[in-house]
Amino acid sequence: MQKKRNLSMLEQVSRSPHKSRHKTREVVVGGIAIGGDNPIRVQSMTTTDTFDVAATVAQIHRLEEAGCELVRVTVPKAQDAAVLSEIKKSIKIPLICDIHFDYKMALAALDHPVDKIRINPGNIGGNDRFRQVVRKAKERGLPMRIGVNAGSLEKELVEKYGFPCPPAMVESAIRYIEIAESEGYHDMIISLKSSDVPTAVEAYRLYAQLADYPTHIGITEAGKPPYAVTKSAAGLAPILLDGIGDTIRISLLGDPVPEIAAGFDILQATQRRVRKPELIACPTCGRLAIDLEKIIADLEKRLEGKKTPVKISVLGCVVNGPGEAREADIGIAAGNGKGVIFRNGEIVRHVLEHEMVDALLEEVQLWEQTHASNTTDSRKDSIKKHSLPMLTTP
Ligand code: SF4
Repeated sequence: MQKKRNLSMLEQVSRSPHKSRHKTREVVVGGIAIGGDNPIRVQSMTTTDTFDVAATVAQIHRLEEAGCELVRVTVPKAQDAAVLSEIKKSIKIPLICDIHFDYKMALAALDHPVDKIRINPGNIGGNDRFRQVVRKAKERGLPMRIGVNAGSLEKELVEKYGFPCPPAMVESAIRYIEIAESEGYHDMIISLKSSDVPTAVEAYRLYAQLADYPTHIGITEAGKPPYAVTKSAAGLAPILLDGIGDTIRISLLGDPVPEIAAGFDILQATQRRVRKPELIACPTCGRLAIDLEKIIADLEKRLEGKKTPVKISVLGCVVNGPGEAREADIGIAAGNGKGVIFRNGEIVRHVLEHEMVDALLEEVQLWEQTHASNTTDSRKDSIKKHSLPMLTTP
């Protein structure tokens, strides 16, 4: 006998697959607001010897050019703290000092014009030392990232939970949050990093049920690209789709500059921060009726630098072409060296293959004119079933 499923539950669930963001406080880092309704910020960390100011500044300039919004430098030695002001003077984005093990380095770094300090309280030698750093950050009016890492959890929490699991990481974070709160300090951003994807995802989910300080999210020690980008995307996507995450770093082995594009791409794909056109293209197959690879390459090139959050679909034949094209803001369904252009689900023109790229760009221009005040709010008003969601941000 054929099994009949009861589909009534489908009527009860939300039509929109987009979850709202975890409500977090706003923490300002060097003039950039993190948390609340602010865009999820993309940051990176230099790989140079911090004391080598010229090399560090040069790398930060390349990161700035790539769109990096906050940068972190390591401060393992007193001489590194001494050059922080020189670095700060030469860059435009907020500067974060990264401290491990030595609370005296944290105190020393806070004597310099940094915009935030990042410490891992689990490895700086006890709660009293952590309190001293908190007090100084408070005195200086500076925010702090409390970076809990599965690899350096307190021994007693590892013993309590058996291994560095998500509850152990979250208990560690809450412990330090409460110490800081007892000092009247609230300018905190929290990270719960692990190189193990399920552990990181679950830790952030648990944390979001317990506290409202913004989160810095990332999969630590992800390794070498391209696998590291895939691993980061695999870990960050569920966190972001759950609405968690206020700032992001993709940790890649080697030059940090590619971390920026990878971070923005993950935010774009999860629709948490859409800042460029979304190109939908089929993988192609034996039915292909146009030179799709060439068309997409041309289109990508000519759309470079555009911030328009328009959804463009280009499909290679009539199988899925018209359906996808209808769902996009602008779409093209190709067939036999020709194509039909859709705008907001309606057919607007027919074009030959060699005219497709120009025609699509004209449509993008038109879309820009009709969405001239393309802010998050105006996007909300014009939202349609085929449009990108309201999470679009500059
Ligand atoms: S849209 Fe057409 S050409 Fe593209 S993958 Fe599907 S069937 Fe193949």
